[in-house]
Amino acid sequence: MTIINEKFSINTKGNTDIVDITKHVQQAVYSHSLQNASVNVYVAGSTVSITNIEFEPGLLVDLPETLEKIAPAKMAYHHDETWHDGNGYAHVRASIIGNSTFVPLIDGALQLGQWQQIVLIDFDNKARTRTVYVQIVY
Ligand code: ZN
Repeated sequence: MTIINEKFSINTKGNTDIVDITKHVQQAVYSHSLQNASVNVYVAGSTVSITNIEFEPGLLVDLPETLEKIAPAKMAYHHDETWHDGNGYAHVRASIIGNSTFVPLIDGALQLGQWQQIVLIDFDNKARTRTVYVQIVY
């Protein structure tokens, strides 16, 4: 078994900023000209997530609106009593969505659906720079 570690940085605006990172992941994987591998995409941080979406204008509104119902930004959170950083909702949303995704590489192609993009969602209440790790196992 061989492991290749790649990483890249993404600047975000925070406040549930959804960034399409599909091309970054493809570049990290395809630069090695592998045929078959397990590809894990992971972001470090407790107020940021990695997931999949169809990156189109409607869903880019639907997902934040849905998360606002589940973990409203203006609600009182115990986390804010601890740190007074005002981002309790960001931690809760990130925990629900998760911070990694898996994509199989089969016959030289990442197996993403035609309308499926890999996205980073930054829930924090300020602009951040995030490090995304792509771990390729074959
Ligand atoms: Zn916090």
